[in-house]
Order: sequence, then structure tokens, then C-alpha cells
Amino acid sequence: MTAPACDLLLTNAHVLTMDPQFTVHRDGAIAVTGDSIAAVGAAALAYQAAQTIDCGGRVVMPGLVNAHTHAPMTLLRGLADDLRLDVWLMGYMMPVERAFVSPDFVRLGTRLACAEMIRSGVTCFADMYYFEDAIAEATAAAGMRALCAQTVLRFPTPDATSYEESLARAADFIRKWRGHPLIVPAPAPHAPYTCTPEILRACAELAVEFDVPLHIHLSETTQEVDDSRRLHGMPVVPWVKKHGLFDAKVLAAHCVHVDEGEIRALKNFNAGVAHNPTSNLKLGAGVAPAARMVDLGVNVGIGTDGAASNNDLDMFEETRLAALLAKGTSGDPTAIPARTALAMATRLGAAAMHMDHVTGSLEPGKRADLIVLDVDRLHNVPAFGHDASAIYSRIVYASKSTDVVDVMCNGRWLMKNRELLTLNERELQEAARGEASRVDTFLSSREVSVLQKLVAVGGAVEQESFEIQVKARVPTADHVLAVMNGEHVTVVRSSHYHQFDTYWSFSDPDQGWLRYREDEFLDDAGNVTGARSRLTLTGRTKEDHFGAVLLSRSRYYAPATHSTRFYREYFRPASERIVEKDRRRWLVAYRGVEFYVHLDRLVKPAHDGYFVEVKSRTWSRRDARDKAAVITELLALFGTHPDDTISDGYADLAGA
Ligand SMILES: [Zn+2]
Repeated sequence: MTAPACDLLLTNAHVLTMDPQFTVHRDGAIAVTGDSIAAVGAAALAYQAAQTIDCGGRVVMPGLVNAHTHAPMTLLRGLADDLRLDVWLMGYMMPVERAFVSPDFVRLGTRLACAEMIRSGVTCFADMYYFEDAIAEATAAAGMRALCAQTVLRFPTPDATSYEESLARAADFIRKWRGHPLIVPAPAPHAPYTCTPEILRACAELAVEFDVPLHIHLSETTQEVDDSRRLHGMPVVPWVKKHGLFDAKVLAAHCVHVDEGEIRALKNFNAGVAHNPTSNLKLGAGVAPAARMVDLGVNVGIGTDGAASNNDLDMFEETRLAALLAKGTSGDPTAIPARTALAMATRLGAAAMHMDHVTGSLEPGKRADLIVLDVDRLHNVPAFGHDASAIYSRIVYASKSTDVVDVMCNGRWLMKNRELLTLNERELQEAARGEASRVDTFLSSREVSVLQKLVAVGGAVEQESFEIQVKARVPTADHVLAVMNGEHVTVVRSSHYHQFDTYWSFSDPDQGWLRYREDEFLDDAGNVTGARSRLTLTGRTKEDHFGAVLLSRSRYYAPATHSTRFYREYFRPASERIVEKDRRRWLVAYRGVEFYVHLDRLVKPAHDGYFVEVKSRTWSRRDARDKAAVITELLALFGTHPDDTISDGYADLAGA
């Protein structure tokens, strides 16, 4: 009887199979044929190999599985740090992505990420980004295995102008890559709060149709969960379930804020979870209940998340942190022992990605995705043999990514003796520096202009407009109310509201005032019937004046889609002033011209009496002069004298 043949035999290896029984072969061997593992342990020694490599007693284990990342974001590493998630994402990442992300950008970023990941022993990762086709191409060329998920969002992205377009892009992408030996394509509805129920359902249907996984961010922050409860009356997991998400094979990144019931639901729907401890810590999101999820049988992998929120893709660091955090947050040093942590970084991660039939452990029939690790470096000696699981502690608590010597994926060496074989590091570093300097130029010019920063965070932009206006003190409301009820003016409509204004100024006074205004509409009984928020950027100085009547310019006007806290942290103003007032507002016609008349009572800063304000849009200097004359007459009707007018805005009064 002839011995079975194999292409490669690794001998004299300390083999950690990471199979469900955690089988270890102390002086073991592995036979590789083509892209797959033919045999492990004593059985491998029966093989007749074309090539035999003596591993010198080093550890041979499955390649690490990075269960959640955004590979091209290596190019945005260190771009904006120490910011809150919304400011970081909406204020920096997304605007830069809109301006720079292209197929070339993601190709370069992916190659950089692959080089970094191969160096740290990763053979398989779960990605989510734009132009996923270019990412899949770069990944396959680097020889790595990946779940590549094409992002779908409810708003325009760098690679799609609408959600329909991004969904079509995802479908095309999946059709093209399905069945590839290294790439598993998938749709990625970005997150519940950036998608609609329709998008969630459509993505799940797409994943089911092609039998591919679905990659999503779930329950990352308390804000996301609070918003879900407020808007939908339930936390995130039941809400996405309601919209059919779990019909698909889900890989859910984060799951930081999930309760016991949600964890059980994840388990029941066989959803995998990617635990991203560094990213969650760095963005202040919290610590996922990873130990509890593992205990309840959820497949929990470990992910680095993108390099913009980590800032590296080092799975050794991530795995150690996952093991340590579970202990530190629970007070229980037995939580997530080293062996479990390493299983999360390998087999459980592959299972979370629904790819454990091909990778994640060293078992016959699975693809040959493995690494050779030197555990005899200075920082990892001596070693004790009395406890069989000590090897897991050595790897999780003391090994470093720089201890990875060789990396094989799908039967092909990607790194040998710490030399990358499929990527040119020097070239990548050079190209990445070039890309960074372009982004730098863009951000430096943006950072000095409040207007440009406003445009960058989106919302409808209204071009500059001119207003002619006057403001005067009136001791009582009586005169103004009498005019409004009298014969002189025709009231087109009127309203009553409570107005909360936050004025921000900047170290460069030429940037003007940025005003965040919240209006609460009041009915006749004084009940709040509705609310809206707007942003206005005004010049600090007036453009011109006609007697007491001023001509002012508004440079920007948009609905405010974020909180005051968001804008404060994003713009970092030099000063802030708060004005709160009760406002009666009329649109009136007087002598053939339409004016807005405001009767204001200042609540904060508290002020006796009232202010009356008259204003109108204007288009030309002549128009402004004509209207100024009519406004002056109107002021006289209100019983105010030109001496009663004030040129200060309410923000100036608040600062006084
Ligand atoms: Zn992410």
C-alpha cells in the first residue's frame, strides 16, 4: 500500500488545532494538499510530501480571524481622534470619505490593511465599506480570505447617489464574487440608524436569495438604543428582527448594549457577533457583554474595527484586551479565559462570519489558513508544562504580532520569515503618505472656515441672503398689539413660539456668529404643538444702514440635523451665548410691502419690557432703501422713536 501524497508537510510543530475539543499535538504535523488541510497530528506523518518543513518546535495554529473591520480606513488612521462617535463619524469620517473615497483609494487602503494584518497573523477578515468590488480584488490579490460586504445606506455614499443604487451595486457585487475561493460577498446595511426598514428588509432578502451572510453594526452606543426605544418603542435587536434582518445569516458588529433577551435572540437566530473592544473603548461606546454572549452560546468573534477608530489592526492586542476587559468589568478573573479568547480570535470568529466550514481551525478538509508563531522570544520565556492550557495564556497574554513568523492562507504562503510575499510594504507606505497629504490639505482649508465645515456636515444649503431690519425697545406690548389688530396693516398670518438660541463665535471674528435655533410652537393656550431646529451663519458686522435700519447678510441657513452638543464639539467655538425668548410673529402687508414683525420678550438674559423687530428680505440696494423708509414709518406707528432702536443683536445683549 502506498502512502497518501500531499504538497507540504509541516513537522516538529506545536499544533493548536483550535477545534471544538481544543486538540493539541505537542510534537505534531500538518499535511497540506492544494488549498486544504489533508491531515493533522499523527495521521499527517503517514503522508508522502513533495516538501517538508521542520517548524523547530514553534506553534502552528489557525490564522487569526478579524471579525470586523473597514480595511481601506487604514488611510484615515489618526485623522481625527478623541471625539464623540457622531462628531467623529458625521463631522470627519463621512465628509472625508465623500471627498476622497474612490476605487483607487480603497484598493490602496486595502493593500495596506492586508500587509498589516498578514504581519500580525490574520488570514481572514470581515470587511464593510464602499467600492467593495475593488476591496475584494485587492484582498484576493494579496491572497487573504475575506467576507466583503458592500455598504448600503439611506443617504448618498461615495459609491452611490441613492439607496436603490447602492442596493443594485451590492447585488451586482454578490453575483460577481459568489463562489470565489477567497472572497465571500455580502450586503452590509450599515446600521439600523443609517438605514430604513425597507433597506434592512431588502438587504436581508438579497442575502437570502444568494445564500451569503449579511454584515451590520448593531447596538453600538446607548444613544442608538435610546433612540430606538424612543422612535420604535423597542431596543435594536427586536426592531431589526421585526424588519426581517434575521432571515439572513447575520454578522453583527459591536452589540455593546444588548440585554439578556436580545442575546438569546441573537443565539436563536444564529447571528454572529463581532466584539471590537478597542474601538468601543476609544469611542466611549462601552464594553460589550462578550463573556455573557459566549456563555449563552453565541458565536462571538473579535474585530479591530477600522484603523480610524483603533488605530491599528493588531489582533493579538485585540484578543488580549477582550480577555482582560471581561475580567476587569466583571470583577471575575475567570471570565473569558485565554483559551476562550483565542477561540474567539479563530474558530468562533469564523463561525460568527458563517465561514467556519472553511476556516478558523486546523481540521482535515478545511482550507490551509495557518500561522507559525515563535513563542520563545525574550518576552515569552520561560514556559511551564504542568498545565496543558498554559500555551493559550502564553499566546494571549504575552505573544505579540511581531512574533508571527510565517503566514499561509488557502495553501499559499503570504509571509515567510517575516517577509511579505504578496505585497510591497515600502511602496504601500509611500503611496499612503501621498494620500494622507491630500486629505490633510483638504481638512486644513476646511478647518479655518465655519461655512465650509457647515457644508461638510450636510443639510440643505441656502445661498446667502440679505435682510433689511430694525430692532427697538418698547416698554409694553400694547402699542404693537393695537397696530396688529388695527386698520394700518394687513396681517397675513401670525404665530407664537418659544425660541431657544445658542450663539457661537470663533477665535477668528470674521467667521461671524453661528446660531443654533430651536423653536417651540405654541397654541393659543400656550401648549407646545411642534418644534424645529435651524442653523444660521451670519456676518458679525452689518453690510450697510439706512438711518436706524440695518442691512444684514445671512451666509448659510439649514435645518439643524444634529444636537447642539454635536455642533459645539464639532465647531469648537471660542464663546457661547444663550438667548431664550417668547416671540409673537406676524407676517404683515403695509403699504404694499410684506414685513415680518416680531414682538419679543427676553427670558434669558432677563430683560424688562419688550423688543419689536421688523424685517424683510431684500434683493438690491434700491429695494433696501425703499423698504427702510417704509420700516421707519411702521416703527413710528408702534410709538417708537429712532432713538429707541438698538443695533446690538440679542447675542450681544447676552454677552453684556
Ligand atoms: Zn465598524
